[in-house]
Amino acid sequence: MTYLNEFNKISWDDIKLDINATTRQQVLIALNKKKPDFNDFLALLSPVASDFLAIMVNKSLEITRKRFGSVMQMFIPLYLSNKCSNICTYCGYSLNNKVPRKSLNIEEIKQEVDAIKKMGFDHILLVTGEAGNIGTDYFAKALEVIKPHFSHISLESQPLAEAEYARLKQLGLDAVFVYQESYNQHCYKSYHLYGKKTNFNYRLETPDRIGKSGVDKIGLGFLIGLSDQWRTEAAIMANHLDYLEKSYWKCRYSISLPRLRPTKANQTSNSYITNKQLLQLICAYRIYNNTVEISLSTRESPELRDFLLPLGVTSISACSKTSPGGYAQNKNDKANLEQFTISDDRSINDIMQSIKKAGLDPVKKDWDYFYTASN
Ligand code: SF4
Repeated sequence: MTYLNEFNKISWDDIKLDINATTRQQVLIALNKKKPDFNDFLALLSPVASDFLAIMVNKSLEITRKRFGSVMQMFIPLYLSNKCSNICTYCGYSLNNKVPRKSLNIEEIKQEVDAIKKMGFDHILLVTGEAGNIGTDYFAKALEVIKPHFSHISLESQPLAEAEYARLKQLGLDAVFVYQESYNQHCYKSYHLYGKKTNFNYRLETPDRIGKSGVDKIGLGFLIGLSDQWRTEAAIMANHLDYLEKSYWKCRYSISLPRLRPTKANQTSNSYITNKQLLQLICAYRIYNNTVEISLSTRESPELRDFLLPLGVTSISACSKTSPGGYAQNKNDKANLEQFTISDDRSINDIMQSIKKAGLDPVKKDWDYFYTASN
């Protein structure tokens, strides 16, 4: 039994219709419930709910502070490799892009770790393209070097088998993020043209394998702008999250809501969601699910990130370089190795100041949290 069984019971078109048929009365009912159900979530995602955005913002803010306090967890991505055997038409790492390819060796990983530690981060996200030789053995060697320096390590890479996740957990892996990109099978097919990633079902079942392996945290996401129905994508991802929370109740969960960004191959951002709609989406998730962590990446502009910070988000990336060796090496050619262009390239100090200005406590290390919590 995996999420595929549940997924096959739901209909994209029915969910889309339900969202678009929402009345103002249904939105009000959803906003007044202590524990909104899935139908309430659909109402909060609806076009008509945008008229109630101020109420949604206040509710989301209140729930977030109650559940997560004033802590804003900061993390930094470490890109280990841009080698990839897939063709995804929206990504700078796509196999058909003629860009220099690089996988960091152990010495280069150590240099990146040193550079990142100097910035004070304690939570790290390891990112790679999806190439055959960048698999479990490579991650095991990397974890040996990285683990002593960080208290929390996440991985965003090719989907692995349950036993492989279990092995990496033993070596210190805390979380795995695997984004479905699109829950619409036709849309998914049109962007994923070659390689293992063309297998929609195998990707959809990956969070099940992570849950069964005992890894502590699972991250879900879809790439906003691939399909033109972000509301339906969001609803199905919430259905996926509901299933996982019931099936693997010991795990923690996070979601990410990245919007399509320009890459070397694709200079056009096909975002079908406005800033106001992104705010509605964040608030809808927070009101529906009080405990899920919501992450905001450097894909978004400094102004928007600052605005969204207190309104439902719980963790943000900072100082991101989306190229292997971007922190300590390749100062001159990093632009050619990038997966996508980031929008928020502020210094760590500037970002921390913004978080403080929003009345929150930026936390780069776990002991910062304990210090903050006890004072
Ligand atoms: S999105 Fe992932 S799998 Fe697709 S080309 Fe980029 S790195 Fe490879």
